Amino acid sequence: MPDTHLELLDSLSQRLGNQQVIRDSVAMEGYLVEERKLYRGTAMAVVRPGSTEDVAFVVRECAKAGVAIVPQGGNTGLVGGGVPRSGIVLSLERLDRIREVDPFNATITVEAGCILKAVQDEAEKADCLFPLSLASEGSCRIGGNIATNAGGVNVLRYGNTRDLVLGLEVVLADGRIWNGLKGLRKDNMGYDLKNLFIGSEGTLGIVTAAVLKLFPHPKARTVAFVGCASPHAALDLFERLRQRTGDQLTAFEFMPRFALQVVLRHAAGAVRPLAGEHEAYALIELSSPDPGIDLRERLERVLGEALEAGIVEDAVLAASEAQGDALWTLRESLAHVQRLEGGSIKHDVAVPVSRVADFIVTATQACEEAMPGVRVCAFGHFGDGNIHFNLSQPVSMEKAAFLRQWERFNRIVHDIVDGMNGSISAEHGIGLIKRDELARYKDPVALDLMRTLKRTLDPHNILNPGKVLAPEADLPSDLPSSS
Ligand code: FAD
Ligand code: ZN
Repeated sequence: MPDTHLELLDSLSQRLGNQQVIRDSVAMEGYLVEERKLYRGTAMAVVRPGSTEDVAFVVRECAKAGVAIVPQGGNTGLVGGGVPRSGIVLSLERLDRIREVDPFNATITVEAGCILKAVQDEAEKADCLFPLSLASEGSCRIGGNIATNAGGVNVLRYGNTRDLVLGLEVVLADGRIWNGLKGLRKDNMGYDLKNLFIGSEGTLGIVTAAVLKLFPHPKARTVAFVGCASPHAALDLFERLRQRTGDQLTAFEFMPRFALQVVLRHAAGAVRPLAGEHEAYALIELSSPDPGIDLRERLERVLGEALEAGIVEDAVLAASEAQGDALWTLRESLAHVQRLEGGSIKHDVAVPVSRVADFIVTATQACEEAMPGVRVCAFGHFGDGNIHFNLSQPVSMEKAAFLRQWERFNRIVHDIVDGMNGSISAEHGIGLIKRDELARYKDPVALDLMRTLKRTLDPHNILNPGKVLAPEADLPSDLPSSS
């Protein structure tokens, strides 16, 4: 390690304490490997500041030494964005204080290292809802959610993370602290800077705190699991529900026949929700803060009419909270159990909601033609036009041989998405895994503006270098062949 790096680490240890500058390779392990184990990173240390001022100090020292910084929250990201390739990992995990809850302003001010579940729980104590909800909510952190503009299962009603953020505190690449912690619904004082940092995956600044929106806590909820003859019938049902239930429609999640088969085969305790099998399933939730409202009756009525109109083939409404949870588990366990079917090639894409059924049908057909036997598992946030278009390997194929086809399927699926004016990254971000795909599909003028912003806010390229945008010198060859 060069002397300048040793001096840097000594200076950081002096300010933060030795325990907060981890150099031991065993202790660093959890910060170097990402969720899917597609990448293994390398770093000279993991640094854990405990305050915004200490984050600013670390950034200033790294800037002086020209050392790269990879910010990290819960390390649950799915695109390799938090994987270091040199320099330091800056973990935000010690910035975990709830700074303020203001029920009248309907806001909560939290530090970036707060675990999402802790923020939800704190909101609940004030009889409020913080609606961001992901399967990783027990370990992902708010700073990571903001940096990735996370989505999840409540976007239909409450929006993405971007829609839930009113203000930010950010440490810039030169170590200055931008205090934008305003909890305002209206603020037209110039450019909306917070939206530059939301979704920037640690490449433009380090989020240290945020003011988040709260909502009335739902007091009534009803859940149904519905079988339809096709994705197009599911879209008809969605449109009907949106017209009839408006804001009460909180979730409309989709699973194809294969996905439910996988869940019933592998998920412990999973019970078949409907007697027969159907091409397309929808998990529907209505909720309301009004405890007196009969949502079940309302949903039953709309589903009954849809059944008569031939849109729905069969449906079950949860008779209790526990049954509602059990129906949700069918949907939520899919991400964990699909891997038991062997290799999975994944795409996280979005199209306009009006095209979502067309997309599922067209892309499914194209992939099945490209590789007979491939099992399409196209599930997810149908009501947002966001499909996790996953492909399970043919039963008899070797996993590694299947995964080598990732690029080929990217082209098939992403070309269809692009042709529908969609997005090749709906909610997981770009990181490393989709960096070359971004360069291929993003409008060139937009890419140029992104580069200009990157150069302006991080002129020495020390913030998460090589993520989202390839370095100007371009080095796409370090991507694994499976991306
Ligand atoms: P990390 O993985 O630590 O970091 C993610 C990116 O943000 C990296 O580029 C990192 O450098 C940057 N970053 C982290 N903290 C900061 C900060 N304070 N300032 C600046 N940059 C920062 N995502 C969804 O959108 N919807 C889902 O439904 C969903 N479901 C998931 C289910 C499972 C089981 C898993 C494992 C993941 C899921 N994800 C989902 C992906 C992931 O949980 C989200 O992307 C989450 O927002 C990442 O938060 P994190 O704290 O783990 O961030
Ligand atoms: Zn998702």
